[in-house]
Amino acid sequence: MRILLIGNGAREHALAKKLAESARVEKIYVAPGNGGTAREPKCENLAVESQKDLLTFAREQGISFTVVGPEAPLMEGIVDAFQEEGLFILGPHRAAAALEGSKSFAKDFMIRHGIKTAAYQVFHDAAQAKAHLQHVTFPVVIKADGLAQGKGVEIVDSRETGEAVLDSFMVEGRFQDASRTVVIEEYLTGKEASIITLYDGEGIVVLNSSMDHKKVFEGETGPNTGGMGSLTPNPYFHGSLAEDFQKNILEKTLAGLQAEGLQFKGVIFFGLMMNEKGAYLLEYNLRFGDPETQGILELLEGDLCTIFEKTLKGELKATDIRVKPGKALAVVLAAKGYPGSYKKDIDITAYFTRKFSQVSVLAYASHGQDERILSSSGRVLTLVTHGEGEAPFTQIEKVLHEVVNPDLFSRRDIGRI
Ligand code: AMP
Repeated sequence: MRILLIGNGAREHALAKKLAESARVEKIYVAPGNGGTAREPKCENLAVESQKDLLTFAREQGISFTVVGPEAPLMEGIVDAFQEEGLFILGPHRAAAALEGSKSFAKDFMIRHGIKTAAYQVFHDAAQAKAHLQHVTFPVVIKADGLAQGKGVEIVDSRETGEAVLDSFMVEGRFQDASRTVVIEEYLTGKEASIITLYDGEGIVVLNSSMDHKKVFEGETGPNTGGMGSLTPNPYFHGSLAEDFQKNILEKTLAGLQAEGLQFKGVIFFGLMMNEKGAYLLEYNLRFGDPETQGILELLEGDLCTIFEKTLKGELKATDIRVKPGKALAVVLAAKGYPGSYKKDIDITAYFTRKFSQVSVLAYASHGQDERILSSSGRVLTLVTHGEGEAPFTQIEKVLHEVVNPDLFSRRDIGRI
């Protein structure tokens, strides 16, 4: 089989590596890929980015199926375009992609199908949104309706800060059209969980749960990032909370998708908040999460190519998913200064020329130059490992001692809090 994989992050590096393990996979084209995927067996980076060129490539090269990492191509309708040509691709078509691309669409869907979520109201008009702030109990959460690269959510604790956020989102258009409409919702406390599942158009099968760490500094402090690490499975997601999720969120989502004709074949990522009242659904993402995917694939047994194929054929069963015992720990190494301004072209070759016991090194956006690998993004590497008890923590620490790069930093408390 020849697979086309779209993206250039550590999530795609993890997917490429796992797919390459399958004896059934002959070749994986990663578009555009990164300095890490360039070195993986069976993988070849492809300097093609436009939807039209990707489609031509898939058709001419006899690609068996395509996997999409990031949300942008999904929102642009890549799935519809490939399917119109009779090509197999994992991901939502444009109509279903609104479950990720529009918070108000997603919240209204949740309410229509009785899915537990934070109370909310949608506003298209700044004056009405501001008037609403006179009647709420703070804090509240203000969300840009559309995609804002994970930066469109603000927790506000007073009317003044709320009004300033509304002005910036709705009047000044901080995220252009993505923030002209907002959702104002009840602030929930509790523990968050990411549940990553595959939907084959008939049923939804859980791959695993994970806990990600969004804040840049230890002790969950500092600004939000794309994610500084993850622990899989999520230690808080079990027992009655897992049952509540299955019955009141997963099954109701499935019923809603079927009832509204929104069937597709791809990933559904459920972002949960869990507290003494059970599991609440904060959001849907219709793609693999980063850095959750790195840990989830580290623990996944068996052949990912077959799992994806069954998903595309509508034949995926819960028994197709087997998970290794223990836990997976994924720790991100970022360029100093991230998520603010940071240095690029950091030489990360040393992480790829050594072999580390039980730890895989996955690259974010990066490029090769004279046998070296140089970084091009804020998050630079994910180190991922698995084991029982303290083993994953010591395995990661060992790598951090063996290769020291003063331009990089990581959180040492990932999976500990
Ligand atoms: P979202 O993109 O909707 O998942 O929001 C991004 C992050 O904002 C979540 O991962 C939570 O940390 C936080 N958040 C979103 N909605 C709420 C809420 N209703 N209550 C508390 N925190 C929230």
